[in-house]
Amino acid sequence: MTQNSLGATPVNRYESATAWHDVDDYFARHLTPEDPALVAARQSGAETTMPNAEVAPNQGALLGLLAQVVGARRVLEFGTLAGYSTIWLARAVGDHGRVVTLELEEQNAEVARKNFERADLMDRIDVLVGPAGDSAQRLIAEQAEPFDLVFIDADKPSNPAYLAAALQLTESGAVIVIDNVVRNGAVAQVDSDDPRVQGVQAVTRDIAAHPGLDATAIQTVGVKGWDGLIIARRR
Ligand code: SAM
Repeated sequence: MTQNSLGATPVNRYESATAWHDVDDYFARHLTPEDPALVAARQSGAETTMPNAEVAPNQGALLGLLAQVVGARRVLEFGTLAGYSTIWLARAVGDHGRVVTLELEEQNAEVARKNFERADLMDRIDVLVGPAGDSAQRLIAEQAEPFDLVFIDADKPSNPAYLAAALQLTESGAVIVIDNVVRNGAVAQVDSDDPRVQGVQAVTRDIAAHPGLDATAIQTVGVKGWDGLIIARRR
């Protein structure tokens, strides 16, 4: 094994999922520590219909940073669950910002509302319960004020419909983030019969074909396994 530039022999642990967890924990401890409200929100995922489906702390922090970089005042989220990612986003938009989050299940919305109250954020978050496609169409019909950042993290087969709605609800400069686009590498299987993978592949084609979007995808490993994000920006 060769020495690195510091003269130390690197430990070759990088293929192990345990090492991914260790690294996530290291950076979460140093850079993105959770306060009690975030810890409670993450733990309350156990009371929802999809335990353990929230983003990791470093991913929540990334969403918050993106919102701040964009200067987002209005954020739209598809898929609330217990509101863990919503809290990161709501903190990023500040006192005068607003997050509208769309959730199918009343059970999850109820858990999320308690978390928003605990985090003292209820006054800047709207939880719309019902199929996200319907809620988004209502926002379009009501001519909702444009959103600066959209986070798509609900049922994956509907990703293309959610992107289409996001494009109607945003303007130039808006950022659209789509979660869970790698799926243990399955996104690269062109003949996949998994509707969730097909939803990611279809939305990827839609983004690639859209002349007004710049985008990239980033693979991630960590406490959530091997997955990734698409980040797109409207020109
Ligand atoms: N964004 C959350 C976070 O990181 O804390 C996690 C969201 S979880 C991956 C997906 C959520 O989407 C679940 O709460 C699920 O009930 C919701 N969902 C699934 N299908 C939906 C639909 N058709 N409309 C709205 N929400 C839906």
